[in-house]
Amino acid sequence: MYSEVIQEMEKYAEEKSVPIMQKKSMNFLCKFIEKNNIKSILEIGTAIGYSAINMALVNDDVNVVSIERDQEKYIEAIKNIKKCNLEKRITLILADALNIELKDKYDLIFIDAAKGQYLNFFNKYKDNLVEDGFIVSDNIDFHGYVENIKTIKSKNLRQLVTKLKKYIDFLSDNEEFNTKFYKVGDGIAITFKKDVLNE
Ligand code: SAH
Ligand code: MG
Repeated sequence: MYSEVIQEMEKYAEEKSVPIMQKKSMNFLCKFIEKNNIKSILEIGTAIGYSAINMALVNDDVNVVSIERDQEKYIEAIKNIKKCNLEKRITLILADALNIELKDKYDLIFIDAAKGQYLNFFNKYKDNLVEDGFIVSDNIDFHGYVENIKTIKSKNLRQLVTKLKKYIDFLSDNEEFNTKFYKVGDGIAITFKKDVLNE
């Protein structure tokens, strides 16, 4: 059963501190995929395959390509995808997303990897988006740190959150794309070229 595998993944993620998507934002994203008739998805940051599997389960004709740079997580994701019999619809790529080139275009690009690199992921992959597609960014609030950068003591964390803030400013003030920000889970941004948003 899918639901058992999904529960196992949630437990594994909790035990090993793998930052999988929060349940509320996962549901929100799956509903969005359903309502907007999304069929092809590019995910940046597979981890153990939790969000890839949930997105693929929205509908039988949803296909996901997902990139992960950590071999251990990639292997875990392969196992989980097999358990769900989704090998035909989820393709995993073991690579740093900033070092590879993809030619295909996707209805949705889901950015959920290194938070300091969101702007680089966006700029690298925006041409892989169909004209009326969506770019979804997860963890845009980053546990509330984005609103409270000055209170962050760790220099590394402050730098990372500052980069995320720059990404938010880039999205907010963009001539080519519109963005809607949602306070669901750890914060989600949905970016699109034309006015086609269908919540
Ligand atoms: N989307 C997953 C969670 C991803 S966690 C889910 O919700 O189930 C973020 C993952 O991105 C980590 O596994 C990390 O190894 C990976 N990652 C970070 N930077 C990356 C990069 N440049 N290229 C590919 N993967 C990256
Ligand atoms: Mg996330």
